[in-house]
Amino acid sequence: MAVDPVCGMEIDEKTCKYKSEYKGKTYYFCAPGCVLDFEEDPEKYLNKSKERRESKEPPPYGPC
Ligand SMILES: [Zn+2]
Repeated sequence: MAVDPVCGMEIDEKTCKYKSEYKGKTYYFCAPGCVLDFEEDPEKYLNKSKERRESKEPPPYGPC
């Protein structure tokens, strides 16, 4: 099973229609909207799973 990095849903690679390649790795998604969100900012979603409690901390990059 793969996990949709955007919404966290479990995805079956065999039946999945929505996928995207990033840095040589294939990611699977539950819906086209999740693919678009991911491709817009892949790092955001790939880092999200590692650090979950960032609500009280400021974003790593300030507003420009
Ligand atoms: Zn999804």
